[in-house]
Amino acid sequence: MEKKYLGPEKIIDKKKEYLIPCSYHFYSNPPQIVKGDMQYLFDSSGKRYIDFFSGVSVMNCGHCNPEILEKTIEQMKTLQHTTTIFLTEPIVSLAEKLAEATPGSLKRSFFCGTGSEANEGAMLLAKLYTGNNEFIALNLGLHGRTHLTISVTGIGMWRTDPFPAGGVHFAPNPYCYRCPYKSVNDECGMECVQAVENVIKNHTSGRVAAMIAETIQGNGGIITPPKNYFKELKNVLDKWEIPLIIDEVQTGFARTGKMFAIEHYEVEPDIMTVAKALGNGVPIAAYITNDKIGKTFTKPSASTLGGNPVSAAAGIAVLEYIERHNLIKRAETLGKRLKDGLLKLKDKYSIIGDVRGIGLMLGAELVKENKEPATRETDIILEALKDRGIIIGKNGEYRNVLAFQPPLVISEEDIDSLIIELDNVLENVTI
Ligand code: PMP
Repeated sequence: MEKKYLGPEKIIDKKKEYLIPCSYHFYSNPPQIVKGDMQYLFDSSGKRYIDFFSGVSVMNCGHCNPEILEKTIEQMKTLQHTTTIFLTEPIVSLAEKLAEATPGSLKRSFFCGTGSEANEGAMLLAKLYTGNNEFIALNLGLHGRTHLTISVTGIGMWRTDPFPAGGVHFAPNPYCYRCPYKSVNDECGMECVQAVENVIKNHTSGRVAAMIAETIQGNGGIITPPKNYFKELKNVLDKWEIPLIIDEVQTGFARTGKMFAIEHYEVEPDIMTVAKALGNGVPIAAYITNDKIGKTFTKPSASTLGGNPVSAAAGIAVLEYIERHNLIKRAETLGKRLKDGLLKLKDKYSIIGDVRGIGLMLGAELVKENKEPATRETDIILEALKDRGIIIGKNGEYRNVLAFQPPLVISEEDIDSLIIELDNVLENVTI
């Protein structure tokens, strides 16, 4: 028997009545999504969409991936939850696997449920380790929804708390397309790193617990730092004995053609946070650190559901799937195909001001004359692509960056379809 769905209009009505009205929609005519199958989504009318957003870098292994489902459901049927203080195997197996997968001496994990919690926990760890309580963060960074993670979030629209925590200092981000120092990509004097040192020297009290940064700023607009940025930044932070927390919540788990994006920059963070793709749709997150820092956290702390057997089983299945199906190489190869296609469109259409990103985490910034953000046009393109069966994301300070973060199981044909459809939209849609 065919399933009856509420349909988009009724869902919108119920959303208006029963949900806190803080969540917005990309579309003026949003579909009701009812099913996922690897890189595809289906709406209540049966229409298929190629998903180029993965629910914001979550579904790296694809929607309802049968291999991951099987292992997660098997665990769900055996043991769902006790408490993390009792002995269970999945949590330690996942921690061991993460120790192998993460760069250098990163080894000890604390599991929780969301990216916000992982970042909040990482900052608590940094306070306990250093005995300091100030933080440095980047303009346009995003780290979560809790009090302190909102406070270190630099992108205006997500700084929701009217009373953010004190002791947070922001530094200019490495946004090469709109470089605050008017430098040219990769040929600059890395003034944005010097600016961090300036913040340390002149703005903080000298008692900095950590600097927190995403490797590639996702919500900030796929802002991709130049090649030497993190090496030079780490040198400065090491000089001042300030730990570096790298937020890999959007960039982790093969998305950029490395297991973690920070590997492109050949830098080992002191603490790293992960979430989203680790569970491929099951809530699980963690902060991971080295022995030296990790061993200092001996006060009691536990997350009720963090690293429960089911979430941990999903995490293990994700790591195994990435390895078995070579998703790291796949993201690199397919990312190149997608980026080449976007760059060709950039040559053809002046509205595409910049194409950036690594692997399958790519952005196209849309502009008018003199780099004026093409915000309205971005919405029109998003809606037109959706009508043509393609879902992409948008982000950036001015909401004018098209975001391409598909499941890594996407095919060459799907990528070619996106480029053809985007070309059609840019050619035919009045913007
Ligand atoms: N860090 C980054 C880079 C994110 O993109 C997000 C969410 N978009 C978070 C942290 C917060 O994660 P969560 O929504 O799971 O709390």
